[in-house]
Formats: sequence, C-alpha cells, structure tokens
Amino acid sequence: MSDRSELFRRAAEIAAAFRASAADRPVGRSPDLQGLRAGLHVELPERRSEPVEVLEALAKAADPGLVATVGPRYFGFVVGGALDAATAADMVAAGWDQNGFSPALSPAAMVAEEAAGTWLKELLGLPATASVGFATGTQQANTILLAAARQQVLADRRWDVGENGLRGAPPVRVLAGTERHATIDRSLRLLGIGTTAVEEVPTDGNGAVQEAEMLERLRSNPSVATIVCLQAGNVNTGAIDPMRRICEAAKAAKTWVHVDGAFGLWAGASPQLKHLVDGVELADSWSCDGHKWLNVPYDSGYAFCAHPQIHSNAVGYNAAYLVGAGGATLGDLVLDSSRRARGFSTWAAIQELGRFGIADMIERSCALARRFAATLGEGGAEIHNEVVLNQVLVGFGSDARTEAVIKGVQEEGTCWLGGTTWRGKRLIRISVSNWSTTEEDVDRSASAILQVARTL
Ligand SMILES: *Cc1c(COP(=O)(O)O)cnc(C)c1O
Repeated sequence: MSDRSELFRRAAEIAAAFRASAADRPVGRSPDLQGLRAGLHVELPERRSEPVEVLEALAKAADPGLVATVGPRYFGFVVGGALDAATAADMVAAGWDQNGFSPALSPAAMVAEEAAGTWLKELLGLPATASVGFATGTQQANTILLAAARQQVLADRRWDVGENGLRGAPPVRVLAGTERHATIDRSLRLLGIGTTAVEEVPTDGNGAVQEAEMLERLRSNPSVATIVCLQAGNVNTGAIDPMRRICEAAKAAKTWVHVDGAFGLWAGASPQLKHLVDGVELADSWSCDGHKWLNVPYDSGYAFCAHPQIHSNAVGYNAAYLVGAGGATLGDLVLDSSRRARGFSTWAAIQELGRFGIADMIERSCALARRFAATLGEGGAEIHNEVVLNQVLVGFGSDARTEAVIKGVQEEGTCWLGGTTWRGKRLIRISVSNWSTTEEDVDRSASAILQVARTL
C-alpha cells in the first residue's frame, strides 16, 4: 500500500517538476528521434517490472522529447497550457479510473459533466436547453454536430439518413466560408456528404465570411437541403464570422447553422468581446474546445446542440427515451462509448478561474496579442491581420526571409511559433492562448524574434 502511495506521489512530483521548469526550458525541440527511440523503443519485455521503475524509466526516456506547450512562451498552433486544478483533477480522474460512458459506470462523471456543461453554456452565452457532449476536441464535435445537421435537413425532406443512408437521398449543400477550418471538410468526408457539397462563400480582408454574400446564397436554391457552417475564430487571423443576421435568415429558410468555435466561441465569455459573437445563440449547434483557450488538459472538446433529441438520434445508440429533462445518457452525445471521464477537468478549470477569471484570461490573451503586434510592428515586422482576438500574422519581407525567421526562432528557444500561408504569403502565426503568459513573456519573445530577424 505504501508502495502505491509512493508511486503516485512520484508521478505527481514528475508532473509538477516539469511544469515548474516549463518557463525555463527551451520551448520547442528539434526532435532527437534517434535518442528518443534508443530510450523508449527498447525490446518488448518478457517479465513484469516494478511500477515505480517503469515510471522512472518512462520519465527519463521521454524527457528529451517533451515540448513545453504548458509554459508561457509557446505560441504555435492554438495551444493552451493546462491549468493546475484542471490538471490535478485529470490526474485524479485517471486514478479513479472512471468510465464516462454512462451513469451506471460513473454517476460522478455524469453529474460533473452536467454541472460543467451548464456552466459552459452560461459562460459562452448558449441556450440553457442545449445538449452538451464531452468530446475529444472540435474535430469530433464538428463531426457529431454535422451528423445532427445532416439528420435534420434530410428529415425535413422526409428522408431518414440513419435508416437509409445517403444512397438516393436528396442532395445536401453546405454553405461555408473559404476560410473554414480543414476539420469541417474532414467531417464532411466522414459523413458521406463530401467536400464537393461545399458552396464556398467569399471572406473579407480579415478572413470572416462576407455577410451579404452568405445571405444571398441562402436565398438561392431554397428547396435544397442546406447546412450553413460559420466560424468563430479563424486559425490564422482570429476573425469571427458575423452571426446574427445569417442565423436569422437561416432560421427563416429552415436550414441548420453550425458554428465551429474551437477557440473563438470564448469571446462570448468576455464582456469586452462578446459583441464579436453577437447572435451566436441563434445557431443550431456549436463546437468548442476545452484544451485550447479554456486551458484544460487534452483531450477535451464540447459538442453543443440546440436540439438535444436530434443530437442524440444522430449519434447515440441508446433509446431516445433516455433523452430529455436531464435524462440523456452521456454516451449518446459523443462518438466514444467507453471513454475518459472528461468532465472532471473542465469542472475544475471553471472552479479554478471562475467567471471573472475566465473573462480575464480571454481578454488578457487578446491584449497580449495586440502588444505582440505593436512591438513587432515597431521593430520593423509587417503585421498582416487585424488583431481582433488572440492571433497575429507576422511577415518579414519575402517568404524565404520569413521562413528563415521562423526556423531561427524555433532554434533560439526563447519561444516557439509556427508558420502559415495566408493569402499566398508565408507568415509567422502567433497565438496567445496560455493562461500563464505575461507581458514580460511577450516582450522577451518579441525581442528574440526581432533579434533573429536582424541577424539574418
Ligand atoms: C483547432 C481547431 C479545430 C480542431 O480542433 P481539435 O480540438 O484540434 O480537434 C477546428 N476548428 C477550428 C477553428 C480550430 O481552431
């Protein structure tokens, strides 16, 4: 028994030590895969080992390949750094070994998800009556909710896609901006709708869908089954599609509006920024991530649906009668059956920060993104987007020079950021999404970036 306490204490120490060092480690690593393989890809063991020895061996062998995304100067992709209470809750959840599939397997997991789901809807400004599935991330949430959309727009045309599949079904059209996230297309592929069903709607200079164009498309071909995909948070620019009038027109046209809000939906949690998602509550479904801007450990995303019964009919395999006033079986709302009890970490993150703390984290990230843009701009870099949220696009002249800066910064190690192609140009993409990033981190990182550019 004391061996076991010792083991789990040691696991916690390893995690804590890594987190404590994250701000001081070189942020990114060019992977020494050979070294990692030498440590981890050992021969398949014949016999058992002591758990504590297994743990020590793993920690030692993995360490050179760990990336300090949890630290304050990781600005690549859109990546949060898991909050302390949320991380500890996840560690405990693993220790409890709860299966989040059903209340029979874990009443605690179910009720924690109910509570966290209620808070999430309140924070994001979504209808209190929406269903909430705790998914692996926005990719899964997009798939779930586009399945619900497909179910409904075809049911409106007297076609039960669940029973009959898509062969012989009325055609489905998807109206989405040219700047939609690639996961939307993957979901459409998986759902048999196919990417040629997408009618692309042009976007404005900052990558948000053009409202007038979308309204025009909604008016054309009103008899075709239509799903509208809007985006809150363009991965390059942070731009948020206009919501209210499109949702109103879509409602009148009996189409379904899905919002991919992986990170941008969090604007709704800030009094300063919520105007950016004005009208979002009128949509039919929403995807959002926990592991990006809420800073919850992986993997954690949310599938919200204004029509719980359709949500459950589309992806559940339990009887529909379980759904209703609080009776939904959690396994009915996501694609997993057996799964991690994902709600505990979200519950803990929201408790740790509170409503004001979350609003502060979102607003601070945006302020820091603007600071980044201002400092880099003053230092001679070009800023290629309107910094409406937490994303900044930076260029240093030619594509080749910008690429060289990216490479140089990644090697230099003060911070980590990646590249993207935006409107035909290679650019640096900065995302400020970590709760622990400070002004000093931004200033240090901006100097390092400018220094690398100067030495080229
Ligand atoms: C990150 C992101 C996704 C995918 O989310 P995952 O959690 O990585 O599955 C989808 N859409 C947008 C806009 C994103 O930023």
